[in-house]
Amino acid sequence: MTAIRRQTVFAGLDQPQAWPPTRGRCRPERLEAALDTLDGVGATLRRRLATLGLATVRDLLEHAPRRYEAAADETPIAELHGGDEVVIVGDVLDVTKRPLRGRRVLVTARVTDGTAATSATWFNQPWIAEELKPGMCVRLRGKQGRYGFDVRSWDVGEPRATADFAPVYPAAEEIPAKTVRRAVEAALPFVSDFPDPLPAELREREAMPLKRDALAVLHRPRSEEEAERGRQRLAFDELLVLQIGIARRAAEREKTLAPSLGAAGDLILRYRRALPFALTPYQERAIREIDADLERTVPMQRLLQGDVGSGKTVVALYALLRAVENGRQGALMAPTETLAEQHYLTIADLCAGLGVSCGLVTHSTRARDRVSALGADVVVGTHALIQEGVELRDLAVAVVDEQHRFGVEQREALAQGRGPHVLHMTATPIPRTLALTVYGDLAVSEIAKPPASRKPVVTSRIGEERASEAYTRLARLLREGRQAYVVCPLIEESETSRARAAEAEAERLRRAELREFSVGCVHGRMKAAERRDTMARFKAGELDVLVATTVIEVGVDVPNATVMIVQEADRFGLAQLHQLRGRVGRGAEQAYCVLVSRPEAELTESARRRLDALVATTDGFELAEVDLDLRSTGHLLGTRQSGASDLRFADFRRDRALLERARATARRASAPLELPG
Ligand code: ADP
Ligand code: MG
Repeated sequence: MTAIRRQTVFAGLDQPQAWPPTRGRCRPERLEAALDTLDGVGATLRRRLATLGLATVRDLLEHAPRRYEAAADETPIAELHGGDEVVIVGDVLDVTKRPLRGRRVLVTARVTDGTAATSATWFNQPWIAEELKPGMCVRLRGKQGRYGFDVRSWDVGEPRATADFAPVYPAAEEIPAKTVRRAVEAALPFVSDFPDPLPAELREREAMPLKRDALAVLHRPRSEEEAERGRQRLAFDELLVLQIGIARRAAEREKTLAPSLGAAGDLILRYRRALPFALTPYQERAIREIDADLERTVPMQRLLQGDVGSGKTVVALYALLRAVENGRQGALMAPTETLAEQHYLTIADLCAGLGVSCGLVTHSTRARDRVSALGADVVVGTHALIQEGVELRDLAVAVVDEQHRFGVEQREALAQGRGPHVLHMTATPIPRTLALTVYGDLAVSEIAKPPASRKPVVTSRIGEERASEAYTRLARLLREGRQAYVVCPLIEESETSRARAAEAEAERLRRAELREFSVGCVHGRMKAAERRDTMARFKAGELDVLVATTVIEVGVDVPNATVMIVQEADRFGLAQLHQLRGRVGRGAEQAYCVLVSRPEAELTESARRRLDALVATTDGFELAEVDLDLRSTGHLLGTRQSGASDLRFADFRRDRALLERARATARRASAPLELPG
């Protein structure tokens, strides 16, 4: 029987000399080694880590924990009561596993420490039943609840996961946090291979620790404060790189000249007349601001910000036509092929009516079509547009859609040497002041409200056991002539398995719930022409339902599609669901979105909050707040949350002060600072 030990165990690096520090000189090249070169990491784990975007030792060491375990006392089982998170230590008496509804499993282990016994419970981790054996001594961290001791983390042997301030890493369903931690630990000795990108003098002035020390305490802190000091150093580096980039771009922009475009003329007048609606005051203001920029010879760098469906595309086309009107060329660059094709469909229509030629350039455009497309008045494309050897005829205005998806380099390549005016469009709400600090050189136009005719999407959520009700309602709306999207679950593995799942689901619906309707399917593995064709048929109303993967996340615009059903919605991130929902409610008709999730009782706390937030509001800013909240309190699972940028350590909300310091440093640097990753 285990004796009660009231002791504190923490994860921190008590004795840095315990791991091999004297590895000789710093060898940065070792950081680029593949992960299966680490002890205990095999090919399978390497593949799984790759799904989290972790491929090298460096990636692993720069993988930030999303939170740390709190300090928690070891408590005798007899003294357990609900409420606080505590640690218990005891011996396993027996282990049982039983199925719950819907492929879910509950593992229960009776544990005793001599004062009393309790049932420790794990949801949906069936493998735990195999790992636990009667007689084993376990250390469990969790909370006493109504049904027993709800285990959050556990250890057999040396306390790791249950230690105070143990790092908890972002994990996916396929790879538990514990496994990630094990891999990080194997990589930890290599922190000494990180050279320090900051000059010693700057580090001293800013009172920053060495990069390698910052990384060490990030993963093995002795207190939350220590972890935070480490994080701040790493965040500072990121923000500094950002600010140096901004300073450099600003300096370069001073040197480039862009064509000054005269006042709007006849083509613009015809464009306005061709639109089936009047522009909203927000759109009008954005247009005025763009016009003022285009008149100058300093290249425009403007961020057009507006929630999904707020009407950015109309404004973008306005800017492009201003170039055409002046005998020059306009280009629109989108982050995905589907999105580029969608923009092309929308824009080509309008352009044709105005006698303006429009071309599409993506990676699947054939070489000879490419030449003529590149010569069009308005060119729409993916980053194929800015590839080596692609020459636009006479670019004056470039629009970059959903710009946060592009790296800074790609954005710059578009502007390279040609000095066109650039309009960046984003649907990710960034508070105005923040946008100015983060993007520095961008002016901001905001479409704060969607067209008034738009009714907010009525959103509801149901458990999968009631999914058939959703399809009954859907069938009714389809009979009234509406169209719908069915979004397939977010499977982590690969685009290919996602594609297969979407096709299977389309097939199933054709045979079952949606027998009487025509059902199409789009996914990322289709040939471009085929996908374009399906989208066009959906747009033309030949298809009632489009079963899709998240390829429809952005930009798809079919006003008559007023219903969306999202399957396994609890597996999506908040921002992503908001983007998806933005595909409906684009016309005057009332639109509906049904989020189908696993049964209520099995939802995680954060999934419940995400879904509730979506039901409660359609306001992107509000949702962004909730999203940030869920993230910074560290409840958000999932690996591909689309954030405003790729920053790993910095958090714009928390790190305002740090951002200011980085900005000041970037400006002070007389000689350009070179910062290796
Ligand atoms: P965003 O790109 O911001 O997500 P879009 O530009 O695609 O939004 O516009 C969404 C929908 O609203 C489109 O169908 C578009 O035709 C329509 N729309 C745009 N501006 C207006 C307006 N002023 N009045 C009515 N409908 C509009
Ligand atoms: Mg759009």
